[in-house]
Amino acid sequence: MGEFDVVIIGAGPAGSVAAHVLAGSGRRVAVADRAVFPRSKLCGGLLTWKSVRLLETTCGLDLERLRAEKAVHHQSSAYFVYGSGSLVARGQLPFPFHFSDRSILDRCLLDVARQSGAQVFEGCRAVDCEPNAGTVICADGTVLRGKFIIGADGVNSVVRRHMPFFGHMRGMWRSYLAPAMEARIPADRFPRRVIDPELHVGRIRDGYGWVFPGNDHVLAGICGLRRSNGNFTSLFRDFIRDLGVADPESVHPGAYPLPYGNYCMNPCHGRAMLAGDAGGFVEPFLGEGIFFAMATGYCAARAIADNGDDPVQAAAAYQDMLNRQILPEIRGSDRLRCFLFHSIAAMGTGWLSLFMRIFGSRLAQTVHGMRSYAWTRAKQWDFLG
Ligand SMILES: Cc1cc2nc3c(=O)[nH]c(=O)nc-3n(C[C@H](O)[C@H](O)[C@H](O)COP(=O)(O)OP(=O)(O)OC[C@H]3O[C@@H](n4cnc5c(N)ncnc54)[C@H](O)[C@@H]3O)c2cc1C
Repeated sequence: MGEFDVVIIGAGPAGSVAAHVLAGSGRRVAVADRAVFPRSKLCGGLLTWKSVRLLETTCGLDLERLRAEKAVHHQSSAYFVYGSGSLVARGQLPFPFHFSDRSILDRCLLDVARQSGAQVFEGCRAVDCEPNAGTVICADGTVLRGKFIIGADGVNSVVRRHMPFFGHMRGMWRSYLAPAMEARIPADRFPRRVIDPELHVGRIRDGYGWVFPGNDHVLAGICGLRRSNGNFTSLFRDFIRDLGVADPESVHPGAYPLPYGNYCMNPCHGRAMLAGDAGGFVEPFLGEGIFFAMATGYCAARAIADNGDDPVQAAAAYQDMLNRQILPEIRGSDRLRCFLFHSIAAMGTGWLSLFMRIFGSRLAQTVHGMRSYAWTRAKQWDFLG
């Protein structure tokens, strides 16, 4: 039995940022992850301005250090949007998109948490959780008890499944879980050089495809709601065939679910809180999750650090931060997603070039977090300095 102030399940971006903040404020913190790091994580690795900023302000990981660690391998100052195969828009970005290697980035974040004093349990899979008692049981029999639990164990969270409120939202959770499929294709198998990221709309309903640059590869992927689309493996193969990849059957994509509009509005119960994918905190227009994982991990940790040992007050403080900073972004991007994807379904993609000429630069600032998805007003983040 291990006794801690806070037990964090999952050492992805949400769990590691939370662990770093809490250990840095003098709490006894345990972080348990079923994997041994570095571990792979299926992800495009795209970092927006707000992600880069949060990595620096919260964890001291600036771009220079991320490049030196090879956690960031590429950056792009422009983007391309294709509608049903034709180029409909290209634009310059107000800040470059940075592309990260998730196995290295997540290892760096966990190292930061460890250096702050968090005790890390690798290869420790949580199988049971009691949110009121603050207890987590792992597959190897380890029992971790904390005054608080942070469930940062990703989209298939064990902690979330033990939260009583989840019973009422199970159907909604399932229907807004988007299958995402992605493959790393060697650059010499791709028909052209990719320097800037591409978004492909009109092919996947309620979703989209992407092509991201890399040093010696490109990452091609698709995601979308299952109920609107057919077989994802066929959709993926058709997508890369149309991109010009020869013999698409020989490309074997990885698949992983992505929360895509199924966030928990009140993610606390008893001594437990959810952060990151575990709470569905992913921006549901482009599926950006790294920032929202780190941001909700940070908010949950701050709420605990600032509220003594009182779970009711800490939950209220976390809820308040979510209501002010995070949920308006998720709701706003959900509205944008509905508008854009329904309009594409109704009218095709021809009108997108006019839309992007008028709104492209504002949209790019919004994706980066310089403007809010809540009607694209200038955005003030409490925690980005
Ligand atoms: C194909 C794809 C592409 C994506 N591309 C992007 C992108 O380009 N940019 C972006 O911002 N976001 C992207 N995302 C989303 C992003 O990957 C996630 O939102 C982000 O990883 C969430 O971080 P997290 O810390 O909440 O969860 P995770 O990163 O999933 O970490 C959860 C951790 O919990 C551990 N865990 C799980 N279960 C247990 C258990 N029972 N016990 C102990 N440990 C457990 C796991 O091993 C893992 O380390 C993409 C997602 C997919 C699927």
